[in-house]
Amino acid sequence: MIRFSQVVKSFGDHVVLRDLDFTVAPGEFVSLIGPSGSGKTTILRLLMTLEKVDGGTIEVCGDYLSHRKRGEKLVPADEKYLRDMRKRIGMVFQQFNLFPNMNVLRNITEAPIHALGVPRDEAEARAVELLEMVGLADKKDAHPTRLSGGQQQRVAIARALAMRPDVLLLDEVTSALDPELVADVLRVLREIAASTDITILCVTHEMQFARDVSDRVMMFDEGQVLEDAAPDKLFNDPEHDRTRRFLKAVI
Ligand code: ADP
Repeated sequence: MIRFSQVVKSFGDHVVLRDLDFTVAPGEFVSLIGPSGSGKTTILRLLMTLEKVDGGTIEVCGDYLSHRKRGEKLVPADEKYLRDMRKRIGMVFQQFNLFPNMNVLRNITEAPIHALGVPRDEAEARAVELLEMVGLADKKDAHPTRLSGGQQQRVAIARALAMRPDVLLLDEVTSALDPELVADVLRVLREIAASTDITILCVTHEMQFARDVSDRVMMFDEGQVLEDAAPDKLFNDPEHDRTRRFLKAVI
């Protein structure tokens, strides 16, 4: 579903990702952990085409993010191609970024109606289903500003899923929440992971969550995958001393 091949990304002189290789299979839940500044968010931003690679390639569902296939040839991606690729990928950010001038239902239906051309009644029925899934069926007419941070984040998750993406990217989705609101959001993500076949890439500091829900955990350090293993292996018996020290500091 996702393939990074020899990906290089720099900001000025600072090489953030070096010759990064990894793949994520369809339906996998992969958590990215590691110290701050190790390049995790940059990986998600590259997948969202908010940044461009300086070297190497990224594929999503067999298509390159940087190039469009035309017959046997590859031609540089244009805006329309990038827009289509972005529709396959949903992202939920630390800050929920809901549209403040729209109620909850419209926050969820806006993109399917306008970007995918889904009929309004169909988009609304799907939004209600998603609100039930995230435990907010009774809030469909509410204004985002009236909701708690945890509720807003659950609406943001429903909004991302409404686009029926192949891949869902989660960027520290609980970091901005008060501790007592974190559990509800994690519960919803657990349910989504268990009940859908969506591929999820999740940057998180919630180690217990990563351990419980992930099929694989990748530990990053200085822009490279230091360790890539099943959660039991990575958390109980890491290969690297660097991983051990990191886990000791955060758990
Ligand atoms: P992580 O998510 O692991 O904390 P990031 O991917 O956010 O790491 O950042 C990796 C490094 O890239 C950091 O040193 C950060 O300062 C740098 N960086 C990220 N985005 C930019 C940017 N737009 N301009 C300059 N430096 C950046």
